[in-house]
Amino acid sequence: MTYALVTFWDGVETRLGVRHANGNIVAPPELKQWPTMLDLLDNWAQAAGVLSAMSHAAAPLVDDAVLLTPISWPRKVLCAGVNYRKHVREMGAEVPGDGWKPFFFLKPPSTSVIGPTDPIMIRNAEAARYDWEAELAVVIGVRGRDIPIERALEHVAGYCVANDITARGYHRREIVPAEAFSYDWFAAKAIDTSLPLGPGITPAWHVPDPQDLRLRLWVNDTLQQDESTRDMICAVDQLVAAASTVVTLEPGDVIATGTPSGVGAGRGLFLRHGDVVRVAIDGLGEITNHVIDAERSHP
Ligand code: MG
Repeated sequence: MTYALVTFWDGVETRLGVRHANGNIVAPPELKQWPTMLDLLDNWAQAAGVLSAMSHAAAPLVDDAVLLTPISWPRKVLCAGVNYRKHVREMGAEVPGDGWKPFFFLKPPSTSVIGPTDPIMIRNAEAARYDWEAELAVVIGVRGRDIPIERALEHVAGYCVANDITARGYHRREIVPAEAFSYDWFAAKAIDTSLPLGPGITPAWHVPDPQDLRLRLWVNDTLQQDESTRDMICAVDQLVAAASTVVTLEPGDVIATGTPSGVGAGRGLFLRHGDVVRVAIDGLGEITNHVIDAERSHP
């Protein structure tokens, strides 16, 4: 049975559980040995064995569970830049040819990552021009450095749905002393609440081909993005291998793998106070986040 590992609030405490495809959340007693998802991921080889042997059918159902971000906090959050062919074209560029290497930027793990139903807080929306980016997120379970491509997927514990919220208005700087300082990735990407993540971590053995997943994103029930991960320029194994040439990948690291076409920027569409953004990946579940203007919520 396909399922995702979740972190939830039961009204008294934060616990680990399992979310079934029908939305039911159960709390198998075997998961109690790990207080947090990071503890579980730090012991991924053992946890994988426990998960495989676990009986879900007998586990107690949890009513009124509030899903939190699956990992609080990830050790690192890496995000791939342009990584879908049609998205490159909608941003007005050509798909890179041979010799292209993926590039990444970082988000702060403690302040950017939010749960599957938490609000996306925005401020100065006119200037910031907040955009959406539906993405497949990879969760690392096995530490590694200079990981060969052919072994890269062995380092992946599982997969989540993510939304890489981006302030387009702050990306290109107006006053540039030299070409090297043209872009401000920090201001555009590192914003508080800019990485909704969830609903849980679907173990890698339930995702036989990460290059055959359908991603969709809706803003207020209007479909904006609908693409297969097949359109990625660099596949998940290439991204993991490439990232590990720069940093040591550790259990609990998250790698967002880039967004397909259908972002708002190319069409002049941006998020506003009151919008509802929903992102779904077939087989992994969905996340739904309300957009709230921080100034309006504190009159
Ligand atoms: Mg992105």
